[in-house]
Amino acid sequence: MLVTALGTSAGIGRGVATTSFLVGATTLIDCGSGVGTLPVERLEKIERVLLTHSHLDHCGFLPFLADCHANRGGPGVTVHSQPETLAALRAHLFSGALWPDYTRLPTPENPWVRLAPLAVGERVALDGGVATALPAAHSVPAIGWLVEGPRRAFAFTGDTGPCPAFWDAVSRVPTLSDVVSEVSYLNRDSASAERFGHLSAEKLAPLLASLPDGVRLWVSHLEPGREDAMMAEIRATLPSRVEVAAIRSGDTIAL
Ligand SMILES: [Zn+2]
Ligand SMILES: [Zn+2]
Repeated sequence: MLVTALGTSAGIGRGVATTSFLVGATTLIDCGSGVGTLPVERLEKIERVLLTHSHLDHCGFLPFLADCHANRGGPGVTVHSQPETLAALRAHLFSGALWPDYTRLPTPENPWVRLAPLAVGERVALDGGVATALPAAHSVPAIGWLVEGPRRAFAFTGDTGPCPAFWDAVSRVPTLSDVVSEVSYLNRDSASAERFGHLSAEKLAPLLASLPDGVRLWVSHLEPGREDAMMAEIRATLPSRVEVAAIRSGDTIAL
């Protein structure tokens, strides 16, 4: 099972897009602008979205994905996330004011967008693997995801501030090979990171104590235009035993 990064940035700009990962052929983690880089033939194969939280850079392309399925006769998508997140989608993104309410079209009984609530610790079966909702600590209700494939596992923090429970959970997964963690701020802006439920390098560093040796760390959610400066600071701040790289659109992780 292959995880392909479609969008990994905190914002937009040439060459970057907001959060979306394709897992195999039928699953998305988050539905930010990165999903818009897929050809329509692959968009219509997506069956489910594992959504971390309700911020637009993670869910804003759901209405367009639903549109693609509606126009091309795709199966529609099931969105898995916490009840609070799904309630926000229903109230704001699919209220009928911004876009057609695909949670009730073509019929309320069998809509293009199906909302499936779950709690931290619950699992979702994938084609060739399983996903588990992990804890996160953001400015709105949020989760991370663990995806276990046939041989390896990868975990994604989503948007989060310091959340020791996430790192405790992933460090107990024997097949864990890769973790994608957000870092949204430079160390000088750690107070803003704390205020908005994000991480800086110095806030991430102590959380890595329990991370097993050999697990590759990827960084996402960097600020567009500041990627190089942020990565230089991250490398200088994190423990030297941790292998760290920025994850960019097109990067893949084989599970
Ligand atoms: Zn967010
Ligand atoms: Zn975000």
